[in-house]
Amino acid sequence: MTGPQTDLAAEPVLLLADDGSIDVAIIGGGPVGLALATRLLLATPWRVALIDAATPARALRDPRSIALSHGSRELLAQIGAWPGAVTPIETIHVSQRGSFGHVKLRHEDYGIPALGYVVRYGDLCASIEQALARAASSGRLVRVQETRIDKVEQPAGNEAAGMVRLHGTGADGKPVALAATLAVQAEGGLFHERRTQAARHGGRNRDYGQTAIVSHVRCSRPMPGWAFERFTAQGPLALLPHDLPEAEGGAGYALVWCCAPDEAARRLALPEPVFLAELEQTFGPRMGRFVWTGKRHAFPLGLQAAELTVEGRVVAIGNAAQTLHPVAGQGLNLGLRDAFALADELRTACTPATLASFASRHRLDRAVTIGVTDLLPRTFGVGGPLAAHVRGAGLAALACFAPLRDALAHQMIYGMRR
Ligand SMILES: Cc1cc2nc3c(=O)[nH]c(=O)nc-3n(C[C@H](O)[C@H](O)[C@H](O)COP(=O)(O)OP(=O)(O)OC[C@H]3O[C@@H](n4cnc5c(N)ncnc54)[C@H](O)[C@@H]3O)c2cc1C
Repeated sequence: MTGPQTDLAAEPVLLLADDGSIDVAIIGGGPVGLALATRLLLATPWRVALIDAATPARALRDPRSIALSHGSRELLAQIGAWPGAVTPIETIHVSQRGSFGHVKLRHEDYGIPALGYVVRYGDLCASIEQALARAASSGRLVRVQETRIDKVEQPAGNEAAGMVRLHGTGADGKPVALAATLAVQAEGGLFHERRTQAARHGGRNRDYGQTAIVSHVRCSRPMPGWAFERFTAQGPLALLPHDLPEAEGGAGYALVWCCAPDEAARRLALPEPVFLAELEQTFGPRMGRFVWTGKRHAFPLGLQAAELTVEGRVVAIGNAAQTLHPVAGQGLNLGLRDAFALADELRTACTPATLASFASRHRLDRAVTIGVTDLLPRTFGVGGPLAAHVRGAGLAALACFAPLRDALAHQMIYGMRR
């Protein structure tokens, strides 16, 4: 982490007494940092600092709608943070444009009320914020807002002793510092924001050459409870059922439409009726006509996964550890599993060895989730009729071969958590 605006030579203002009283300093109060802080307060004796560059109002401006798995629902319920305003996904339909073969996943086949739930990023953060406020009654939370951490310093030499020191910039532009036993990097970020850092630290880094157009849409024949993932030559198109505010017409869909960056720029600039007509042409007539779209936003897509998530007293989780393609809706689901697995490991001790143990136990879940998520856009990104034919056959085989389909569904719902 570097921060060109911070004058690290100037004497920093100590955010807290430098007396070793903070056990875990969490950098980043997005959904992953918030969930970790809440879980730590509820399940461990540690004193926690949560530092964010922004205020909670930032989350409310985020345009993303997120599909949370049934497994994430279970985790969030454990800390009393399950949001009220969610739309269930009961059936997921996966298909390929212009080709045969499709796969249907249904909640009743897995004995759960829904395969997943769609929620606005801001509503989710607000719900975890409320759970955090309740957990903070223990008096063990220090909350620092509008403070950007620019640098994390480890003690030199003997890792078993000493503290980690965080340097940053406060709201007034002055340098600040904070010491803690352990630091968690949960500062998240999007692919294009993290690329330079990834290039510096190694790990997996892949630019898919795709941009996601994110919006909300309505159509004339909605299918409540149905989510669609449609692979096209340019990238996947996802429509997730999402109840919209009354002013926006009620039953609707969260749209994630991935395509080449220049094509995304063109589609973002299209007049609404033309945009809707192109969407209809790409998706097909299954849900009638597309009749309305909300504001459109663009997110460049890529994979950036750190090779090592733990270094001494510092651990990275959530998007700070891995930024994934949204094709399988796994980024935040994995980030929440990161947070809960880390908090559970920290129940016993707050040491570098605990972090190493977390990394080792959580490695398989992380590797499989990253691997599957990376495979999908690459497999479906290969052009040509032969490749399309092979993919169609693959989808048909997946539909018929229940053990493989169920294993894939299990990974999407729970990860390797159980
Ligand atoms: C188009 C799109 C659709 C997606 N859909 C899904 C989906 O359906 N399902 C799913 O599971 N995932 C989805 N994701 C992924 C998901 O959005 C991310 O995985 C998730 O937001 C990561 O959460 P986080 O808390 O790690 O990071 P973030 O949400 O990025 O939050 C990071 C926080 O850290 C703060 N911060 C940043 N830098 C600093 C700093 N230096 N110092 C202090 N604070 C800092 C920020 O202010 C922010 O509050 C999608 C992503 C995209 C782009």
